[in-house]
This record gives sequence, structure tokens and C-alpha cells, in this order.
Amino acid sequence: MTTQSHAILNIALLAKRDKPYLHRYAFIGAVLPDLPIFIFFIIESIILKTPQRELWDSVYFTEAWQNFFDIFNSVPLILILLGIGYYLLNSEKVTVLAWSLLIHCGFDLLTHHDDGHHHFYPFSDFAFESPISYWDDAHHANIFAPIERAVILLTSIYLYPRLKTRLARWCLVIVNVLFVASYLLFFIFRSR
Ligand SMILES: [Zn+2]
Repeated sequence: MTTQSHAILNIALLAKRDKPYLHRYAFIGAVLPDLPIFIFFIIESIILKTPQRELWDSVYFTEAWQNFFDIFNSVPLILILLGIGYYLLNSEKVTVLAWSLLIHCGFDLLTHHDDGHHHFYPFSDFAFESPISYWDDAHHANIFAPIERAVILLTSIYLYPRLKTRLARWCLVIVNVLFVASYLLFFIFRSR
């Protein structure tokens, strides 16, 4: 799923009315698994100036980069973090962070077809092939993408009054406007 959907859904799922400070831990856990892709893009494309084709066709699949991506999407490693947070540290913040990472992996498992992550790293290279893809029309993205946007919009309406800062509320509105607009533009562009 898209990074912004993970962020909005996870904060809504893990938010507790009297504990708004937990929002930021749900947010960090929601975006962290996608962060290595941004780092990959910045280093390879902007700093090393690797051509786009080579970037996505070969460099992306090198073992070093794949391991780097997998560490942040590994359910066994996240379960260790959850155990440490819950039993050893007794920390609600670390526990919420770990739950948010797990929920991200769960949604990704269901929405990636042939670009799924190795969620059982380092024990197995297995990647689940979901029948649904969040971006590939060959695997029902044409149905899933509008549903994703509608769910995020409804979740945002639920979440808006629960956010405490004006900055967070503005971010929520802007993300939704861009998310819906980008889809409409893409849809109009494609149907021509
Ligand atoms: Zn992801």
C-alpha cells in the first residue's frame, strides 16, 4: 500500500483518545518499512546518478539492497522488538511502534502481487503473492485503488478531531487532497 495510507490507517487503528503522544510512534512504525526505498532512491538516483532503467531492473534486486529493505519488513525481527518493548521495557511507546510495523507488513502482504517483501527474513526468502496489487491493474488495482482512497478519506474524517496539533491536521488534509487528485489525474490521463 502507499506510505500515506499506512500512516493514516495505523494512527487511526492504534490511537488512544487520552494518549495523543502515541500517534507519533504509530506514525514512525507506519512509515519506517518504506523508508529504505526512499534512501535507495536518494543514494542511487540522486547521488550516484544511476539510470532509472538500471535502477529498477537490476540495482534494486542486488542482495545488499534487498537485505536492507527486508530488515525493515521482517516479521520475526519486529516480533523481537514487540517482545522487548512489552516484556522487558514495559514501554507502551515501543509496543505501539512494533504493532504499527506489524500492521504495515500485514497490509503489504495483502496488496503486493509480484513485488512482495520477504516478510520472514532472515529465515526464509518466501514472498507471498497476493491476488491483489495496490498499483498493478493486471492484479485488480483498478478496483483496489479507488477503494483505498475512499477508505483513507473516511479514516481521515474519523481521525481529524483526534489530532491535537494544527500541523497534523493540515498534513492530513493536504495528503488527502493530493492522494485523490493524483488518482483523478492518473485516471483521466489513462482513459484518454
Ligand atoms: Zn510497505
